[in-house]
Amino acid sequence: MAVPQKRMNEMEATQATHFDLQAQNLAFESASAEEIMRWSIAHFKDKLCLSTSFQLGGMVLIDMLSKIDRTLPVLFIDTGFHFPETLAFRDLVQERYKINLITLKPVMERETFKQVYGNDTLYERNPQECCRINKTEPMERALRPYAARIAALRRDASPERARIRIIEERVDHVMLVHPLANWTREQSKQYLKDHDVPVHPLHAKGYKTIGCHPTCCTVPVGENAPERAGRWTGTGKSECGLHQVQIRRPAQDFNI
Ligand code: SF4
Repeated sequence: MAVPQKRMNEMEATQATHFDLQAQNLAFESASAEEIMRWSIAHFKDKLCLSTSFQLGGMVLIDMLSKIDRTLPVLFIDTGFHFPETLAFRDLVQERYKINLITLKPVMERETFKQVYGNDTLYERNPQECCRINKTEPMERALRPYAARIAALRRDASPERARIRIIEERVDHVMLVHPLANWTREQSKQYLKDHDVPVHPLHAKGYKTIGCHPTCCTVPVGENAPERAGRWTGTGKSECGLHQVQIRRPAQDFNI
């Protein structure tokens, strides 16, 4: 009897993640981001991808990647609610770096979304559900062939993110690799300056992080505000769920 695709993916992922996670994390604490990227590419091979929304850290990783391996799939979710500046910047980055960009789309087309939810504004009534439909589901679907995903999370970005490890094991078998976990925001900005890397134009307009355009999802906050203060302000929500970590650490499981 044929092995179901989901089980095949799990078996392949298990093989790809067969290493001492604790020892590797310990070693990575003193490794450079480039070394972590190179190790990940060598270890996970064609089961590795990178995800980005072209913010500061994402641009650091894209610049590094362009010097290591341009063929690595780079996933970007087009939620349908992006700022026009984000889509234009995506095109500019693609033109400059010639990365292997894969744009993901929600399964529900915008017109169907409006019919089902009455209008576009589910983000006001239920941002959690809106993020699930337009962000986390497309990403989960796209991640099926992969064993690991690189993302630009940093520990200094928020109290929740302060707990990330450089490699995290997830219950869905797709590991998360955070080469910039122990970088600071200032370090990221300095890298972009030193390497003449383009920066998302909305950062210069007070947006510390940039998500979807509705003001309940992203507002400018200025450089002195906490990094994620401009996201879903006043709702208690601070993460979309894309980087949710449900790992096998009984006393430390957390969701971000
Ligand atoms: S960030 Fe806002 S608009 Fe974008 S998917 Fe989440 S709730 Fe919807």
